[in-house]
Amino acid sequence: MKKKIFVFFGPPGSGKGTQADLLCQAQRWLKISVGEILRQEIKNNSQLGRKAEKYVVQGRLVPSTIINVLVKNFLKKNINRRGYIFDGYPRNIEQNNNFLKIIKSVFGDKFDAYAIEIFLKDNEVKDRLGNRRACICGAVYHTKYNPPKKKNICDICGKKLFIRKDDKPNVVLQRLKVYHQESEPLIAYWEKLGKIIKIDGKKSIPVVQKNIIKELESLGLVR
Ligand code: ADP
Ligand code: AMP
Repeated sequence: MKKKIFVFFGPPGSGKGTQADLLCQAQRWLKISVGEILRQEIKNNSQLGRKAEKYVVQGRLVPSTIINVLVKNFLKKNINRRGYIFDGYPRNIEQNNNFLKIIKSVFGDKFDAYAIEIFLKDNEVKDRLGNRRACICGAVYHTKYNPPKKKNICDICGKKLFIRKDDKPNVVLQRLKVYHQESEPLIAYWEKLGKIIKIDGKKSIPVVQKNIIKELESLGLVR
């Protein structure tokens, strides 16, 4: 059977991580979130974490040479899954080219790759990220739209939630700039292939999820 591979596009805060988690739970696919891996490495003060931190806190992209190796190694360690969601990778042209090489080298021609774009206006992003709460286990909450059951405590692992350093308003502006300049242009590549699903990210979390599933069903990608 062909592996199902999805890349998520959308500005920071559009709901990529939230939707990727829901899809992975329902379909038993594996999420690969580069941002999450980097946050864990930074917390562990590893060599990679120390290299990445200065870029992450400033809202800039970590050099692609580092990220491409990280993604390839992660995939090679997890080759037995039916489906994969790449959340936050590829993020520029160099990574997109490399992504295609990586999946070919790991899976040959036995995969179907699609992009899912969750679109959202910049002014909505600010409300989303200003009230986002994160857990080191990767779970994501929002104080208004998706609060944890117990204030500031992760429903899944019980750890204390935190505000991401890069969710500060000035860093958010920088991340939006990077998205529009470097990542958004990749959407045209996937459009040319005819392999992109576009979803309105302004709807509520369950509605966005339902709309993604509807599109995937119509393409025969989920049952
Ligand atoms: P991204 O991975 O694209 O940066 P997240 O999934 O972390 O975005 O979502 C950003 C914030 O917005 C989080 O606080 C999340 O709980 C919240 N959120 C996600 N999707 C929605 C939605 N459809 N409506 C309202 N809030 C949402
Ligand atoms: P995210 O969790 O996707 O919002 O990413 C948080 C931060 O991690 C980004 O602002 C970048 O600094 C870094 N990062 C995540 N993914 C990548 C990537 N594919 N390439 C370079 N840097 C990344």
